Amino acid sequence: MSFSLHGVGVAKGVAIGPVHILRPQVEINEFSISDNQLPEEIARFKSALDLAQQELHRIREQMPLIYPVREHHDTVLEDFEIASFIDPHMLMLEDSMLTQVPIDIMLEEKCNAEWALQIQRERLVKVFEAIDDAYLRARKDDIIQVVTRIQMCLLRQKGLLEENPLPPPAGSIVLADDLTPADTALMLHQGIKGFITEFGGATSHTAIVARSLGIPALVGVRHARRYIRNTDTLVIDGYRSTAIVNPEQKSLQFYKALQLELKRHRHQLGKLKKAPAITQDGVDINLEANIEYPADLTAVNRVGAQGIGLYRTEFLYMHRDNQQPPNEEEHYQSYLQVVKALDGTVTIRTLDLGADKQVEGISYKKGAALATNPALGLRAVRLCLKELKLFKPQIRALLRVAVEGKIKVMIPMVSGLQEIHQVKRLFDECARELSQENIPHNRDLEIGAMVEIPSMALCTDFFLPHVDFLSIGTNDLIQYTLAIDRVNEDVSYLYNPLHPAVLRLLKIILQHAEKAAKPVSMCGEMAGDARYVRLLLGLGLRNFSVSPEILLEVKEIIRHSHVKRLTKLADKLLKTADPQTIDAIVSEMNNPA
Ligand code: PEP
Ligand code: MG
Repeated sequence: MSFSLHGVGVAKGVAIGPVHILRPQVEINEFSISDNQLPEEIARFKSALDLAQQELHRIREQMPLIYPVREHHDTVLEDFEIASFIDPHMLMLEDSMLTQVPIDIMLEEKCNAEWALQIQRERLVKVFEAIDDAYLRARKDDIIQVVTRIQMCLLRQKGLLEENPLPPPAGSIVLADDLTPADTALMLHQGIKGFITEFGGATSHTAIVARSLGIPALVGVRHARRYIRNTDTLVIDGYRSTAIVNPEQKSLQFYKALQLELKRHRHQLGKLKKAPAITQDGVDINLEANIEYPADLTAVNRVGAQGIGLYRTEFLYMHRDNQQPPNEEEHYQSYLQVVKALDGTVTIRTLDLGADKQVEGISYKKGAALATNPALGLRAVRLCLKELKLFKPQIRALLRVAVEGKIKVMIPMVSGLQEIHQVKRLFDECARELSQENIPHNRDLEIGAMVEIPSMALCTDFFLPHVDFLSIGTNDLIQYTLAIDRVNEDVSYLYNPLHPAVLRLLKIILQHAEKAAKPVSMCGEMAGDARYVRLLLGLGLRNFSVSPEILLEVKEIIRHSHVKRLTKLADKLLKTADPQTIDAIVSEMNNPA
């Protein structure tokens, strides 16, 4: 019988194949252990810890093997980044919260090791769930994954775990309760077509790795193992966040045809690499790429982006061993690497830590109380202006790298003019210091600001004389305009780029910039969303910066657009607040009669 299940699609695409249930549902039961059996039970627990460590070591050693098979995928995550997802698990396996506390529980409760771990898992999950910060809260998944790994080792020792043979056969779709990022990273190497998990969210590390490797995947498919059997045929539709179990012949044909179509489309899009981003009525559009790591340059060059419209430098501060911020030389080297690898201009955004991007010891101090509203607190330029020791090495590196290539500097989360003046004064001060130290630098670089806060959007005319360019960060602009935490799934249904207030603000910014004859770009996700590209053209946007994966699709849309027609429709759109009328106009923009 055919049926479908729904989850959260974390990587787009379609996968078809036989199911391979990686881990059957296992129950963790409680047993009493007598005093004289306890030493043996503790020894069993310790050897399971060793086994779990060995498993992780093995996976880590296999890492370099994974990458040569990724020729069709973007090199978004480097080996060291994948490893950085495994290392925390290895560290947790050495932490007394998992090595000693379960033993204490065993001694106290006189229970088996699996049960003691289950008790400790529940306690730790509660602690993590109470954390305000979404990123840290999501780390509870790591705890669950590590505890499950140890429990599996314990059950295996007792011959209680009936597992499917590992590795799963090439061509299969893996179904599991949860997968670690390490499991996921191995999948491409093993020829796995896609995966489904019962747990996990869209921002988990597992989801990040799946997206980066381009493996169609669904997470959070509740009770999937209750309904799906080994060797059932499965279709993962990552676009509609659906899994179809034992599809009817017609449905199977549809998805096979869709797979072919997607492959053909990808191939066709590849041909647009050198084509200009120009509309049907001859309007030239500047199309740039967003990057997080220098490693993203492979993908940028593959799609032939005209430049980098957003380089999010805060990733330089993450995954660090020593909890020390990068020094001036590290900043300089990573910017230099990007500048040297590209012909176009590189727009480097100054540090934007805080809110959902926190780094212990840098954006918050260990043990300090967490801010009640971190997104409205000490974030981005506010943090930089408070912590000059953090900011000045970045500014000095930027001034130095400006000698080597064409860069622009962009300030995030500006809410008032004084912040721009303060940043510029710091650039002057650092330039003076570099002159005194006889270090080559270039103060003649363009400094722009991101428009992410309504206070700035409404007053762009006042800001424009003081900046060289603007870039609209819609991810935050929408969050702050509609008062919707962008990482809170409970209110995500209200996160609407088509809200009349958002559209009005965009129009205001674009009109002011046009009047002042200053360039304005958009680097938020809205610019790379195929549904909104024509709307943005109609509103007057001429500079887009999008993720490299989507860049050629955006270019294709631009090349099939007519700005004059879209401008008229956008004017109509700005006159209504009725959601149905708005949808109808956007559809008309995207599907000309
Ligand atoms: C934005 O807010 O739209 C943006 C590009 O910045 P980030 O997503 O890094 O906050
Ligand atoms: Mg932002």
